[in-house]
Amino acid sequence: MDSTTTAAGTLSPFAKDLHLGNSLSREKERFEPYNPPYVGMYVCGPTVYSNVHLGNVRTFLTFDVVYRYLIHLGYKVRYVRNITDVGHLTGDTDDGEDKIGKKARLENLEPMEVVQRYTNDFHDVMRVFRILPPSIEPTATGHIVEQIAMIEKIIENGFAYEANGSVYFDVRKFAESHHYGELSGRKIDELQNQTRALDGQDEKRDPLDFALWKKADASHLMHWPSPWSEGFPGWHLECSVMSTKYLGRTFDIHGGGMDLKFPHHECEIAQNMGAHGPEQPVRYWLHGNMLTVNGRKMSKSEGNGFTPEELITGNHKLLEKGYSPMTVRFFMLQGHYAGTLDFSNPALQAAEKGLERLMGAWGLLADLKPCESGEAAPDLAALRARAYAAMNDDFNTPVLIAVLYDAVKVVNSVAAGRMVLNAEGIDTLRALFSDFAADILGLEQEVAGGAGDGDRTDGLMEVICTLRSEAKANKDWATADLIRDRLTELGVQIKDGKDGTSWTFD
Ligand code: AMP
Ligand code: ZN
Repeated sequence: MDSTTTAAGTLSPFAKDLHLGNSLSREKERFEPYNPPYVGMYVCGPTVYSNVHLGNVRTFLTFDVVYRYLIHLGYKVRYVRNITDVGHLTGDTDDGEDKIGKKARLENLEPMEVVQRYTNDFHDVMRVFRILPPSIEPTATGHIVEQIAMIEKIIENGFAYEANGSVYFDVRKFAESHHYGELSGRKIDELQNQTRALDGQDEKRDPLDFALWKKADASHLMHWPSPWSEGFPGWHLECSVMSTKYLGRTFDIHGGGMDLKFPHHECEIAQNMGAHGPEQPVRYWLHGNMLTVNGRKMSKSEGNGFTPEELITGNHKLLEKGYSPMTVRFFMLQGHYAGTLDFSNPALQAAEKGLERLMGAWGLLADLKPCESGEAAPDLAALRARAYAAMNDDFNTPVLIAVLYDAVKVVNSVAAGRMVLNAEGIDTLRALFSDFAADILGLEQEVAGGAGDGDRTDGLMEVICTLRSEAKANKDWATADLIRDRLTELGVQIKDGKDGTSWTFD
């Protein structure tokens, strides 16, 4: 196999075929990093004022798989995912109270206590779902100095102005020489009609303008000195500052949930260009779609967002039972990241069964014995090529899972003695599971042993296998064979190994 050797390592030959759905061009584009084999990726992290819900998990999982796949291809990835700990207001624009400040006021806590509590929660949840930590996790409050410097640059370039101690980005001025709305497809005049008259907007020259710095009023808990006032940065600014600080003024991938496209990401582009010049700061914008419940976006304010803990225990009105983190991970990966995904109990239960099938075969794979003579092995290399093709097609995890199911059929056939494979064939199957199921999809065995259709099925199968073992110990071959044959008719394969009997669904 040919591969591209660079100064810093070896890229997989499959790397050259990776295509990403770029939200900026609205096309699938071949991925060509700015400075291969290095890749810079920035993803908007959580605002740490409450427990993360499952919708948030979907977005971070999407970019976890992107990160894992890029690493698998041999790229040296610097992954920056921030923590928003100041500046995100309850109105999601320039009105309202700071979300963290509000929580601190209501619970009589220091704002940094709120931040620490929910940052810890976020990290716990990421660990439970096997979402890898980023290379750098910077905080907005840790970068106030850099945010002030960027505002100064934007003012110097004529794209921002001060009013009563606050600083606003001058959208119309910027739009004279730039395409404001390029990412989101919004048109300035339509936006103008939609903008409400809001608190503090009278100090803006135009309601379209957005805050870079806000003067803090007396009730505001978090504030810093600046050339303009004692105040705090606007929400969009931190991401412009922290992405370019750690990844450079032009970097490869910027991700986040679809709901952040406007205004957050559109404003980020405007800030970067307003400070650094007209070059596009981001080469590929990726947006993960929303997790919905009965068609409505899961969110804290809708009251339809349950926490991962509620999900695992089943302790929520929307849940018929508890689901394991790997079941949820698998459920989410069964949908392409760019499409909405609707949460439902039947869908979760189907994912649970599907995962058990996959895990069952994966478990059997460890004990498969090669046979050098016998039937020809199926074309396993083609299976591997299809797996890469799926991931290279804009991280198409549902298609990858279909390829893995084809591999499951091969494993089960070999385990049941219907097919024989040589050592190379078995190694290829093992590599397929360890590369694609483990490293790229991030799946892992949750319970040691055979596959189980829930606890009850596990228990029943244990009883049946014990009865069969006893029959064999008593040399009652007729009963032992009867049990095995009846299970085979039901699509359950059992296999006797040195550590006892394991089983899997056909
Ligand atoms: P927040 O903490 O609200 O700033 O959100 C953190 C991340 O979760 C952002 O990238 C959001 O786009 C994302 N997010 C919020 N709700 C959902 C949802 N229902 N489905 C998928 N992603 C979501
Ligand atoms: Zn952001």
